[in-house]
Amino acid sequence: ATKEKEDAKIEGAVQIAIGVKKEVDFAAWYTNVLIKADMLDYYSVSGCYILKPWSYSIWEEIQTWFNAKIKEIDVQNSYFPMFVSAKVLEREKDHIEGFSPEVAWVTKAGSSDLEEPIAIRPTSETAMYPYYSKWIKSHRDLPLKLNQWNSVVRWEFKNPQPFLRTREFLWQEGHTAHLTQAEADTEVRHILDLYRRVYEDLLAVPVIPGVKSEKEKFAGGLYTTTVEGFIPTTGRGIQAATSHCLGQNFSRPEMFNISVEDPNDTTGQGKKLFVWQNSWGLSTRSIGVMVMVHGDNQGLVLPPRVASIQVVVVPCGITKSTTDDKRKSINDACDELAKRLKKAGVRAKADLRDGYTPGYKFNDWEQKGVPLRLEIGPNDLTKQQTLGVRRDTGVKNPIPLAELESAIPTLLEQIQSDMFAKAKAEYDSHIKEVTKWEDIVPTLDAKNVVAIPWCEVEACEDDIKERSGRASEPQDERAPSAGAKSLAIPFDQARWSPIVPGETKCPACLKDAKRWTLFGRSY
Ligand code: AMP
Ligand code: ZN
Repeated sequence: ATKEKEDAKIEGAVQIAIGVKKEVDFAAWYTNVLIKADMLDYYSVSGCYILKPWSYSIWEEIQTWFNAKIKEIDVQNSYFPMFVSAKVLEREKDHIEGFSPEVAWVTKAGSSDLEEPIAIRPTSETAMYPYYSKWIKSHRDLPLKLNQWNSVVRWEFKNPQPFLRTREFLWQEGHTAHLTQAEADTEVRHILDLYRRVYEDLLAVPVIPGVKSEKEKFAGGLYTTTVEGFIPTTGRGIQAATSHCLGQNFSRPEMFNISVEDPNDTTGQGKKLFVWQNSWGLSTRSIGVMVMVHGDNQGLVLPPRVASIQVVVVPCGITKSTTDDKRKSINDACDELAKRLKKAGVRAKADLRDGYTPGYKFNDWEQKGVPLRLEIGPNDLTKQQTLGVRRDTGVKNPIPLAELESAIPTLLEQIQSDMFAKAKAEYDSHIKEVTKWEDIVPTLDAKNVVAIPWCEVEACEDDIKERSGRASEPQDERAPSAGAKSLAIPFDQARWSPIVPGETKCPACLKDAKRWTLFGRSY
């Protein structure tokens, strides 16, 4: 009965925990979750945020996993300065055109003007490639595969959003140079698959791999591959990570001139071969996507694989009349349980804080998204069991103490895969096949992304964006773009009915369709 009262008290607390409901005011819900879960704090420079340990530790999990994977393919970590001279930054015309509105410049040192302003990297192609040109002299120097974990600055003017769009953000940027296009192509897809796994296997967030349209590709690159995520509550797509093939655009003589003697040249005239380059990046945006996809009205919900605390053990059923001996035995049991779990490789913590009710603690850890809570009270102790409560579903189950070491890791894996399966089903149910123009806007308005058989003509993409914007409605301040843009041309085309060349038409312009393409409103 006391347990029930306790639960009732928690219910009450829950209603005010996050303040606003996810379905009602999503933007406020999102920032409230980040603050209440202690992931983030605001900062005195607009568009910049402090990543507190509770979110930074997720980034560390991603780093550890991704570092191991890229080292398997001989990528090495390094570090280049954050400053870029105007001269090299501006060398690749398309590239700088894409980035120049967002580049931040240092113009002063103390009170004196710098002779030449120095840019802060928005990405490091131009900072790194002059040195690639210097270091790559022979085909034996290839492939060159460097990565750096750093921050970049893009002075975005669209509304900033913690993690998703910030003016300084953490990411990794890989930059590789290859002898052949085939080798570059293979790597682009390999890295994209690692990004898919970061999202799906670590963050339990489903993504769709594909290629970007010409309009949406990386400025100055040859083609861009992407994994596209989806935020069900708003029905918006989000670019989750990108792996670009730069082709030979940056290695050309008039750019960075990165060349070797062609080892396959049989003319004996020392024919030059310009290297094939890739660049690829995954940012802290990934953490925001995870929060948006999994969080609920009680707060954050963390997938076990990235949670810095996977299991919290809370002593329960201690009242004023509980003897000191009994209280101690319950606390000891919690402590012992956490120790056993740690030994078994589970990130566990016993919350033995004095002066807080179990209800307060439940609420606290729920807000912070800890995947599993274990409760131990006097009755549990007698029965030699603990009550497990899943954060993702709220489902409660007693677990015999004797079986902890096998039962808990299994349960955590189950939570991880259930979270992914749920999010995947949700994403899938919001991808709608549309073949008539008049269905596009209503389908988007119902918080879906549309798959259309698309012509792949750039002017058509502009037109779709224009015509799908809800000009009549007042624009939501926080909605970055009301018109739909192309999100990805998925590699898995078999999902939809075959496009018949010369027969299947693009619903927007009625020209011949080429491939199924996802269009959506997006972040
Ligand atoms: P890009 O170099 O533009 O392809 O960016 C690489 C990845 O970084 C993108 O796929 C986004 O997921 C992410 N990203 C881009 N801009 C931002 C930003 N302002 N804040 C956080 N992440 C970003
Ligand atoms: Zn078209």
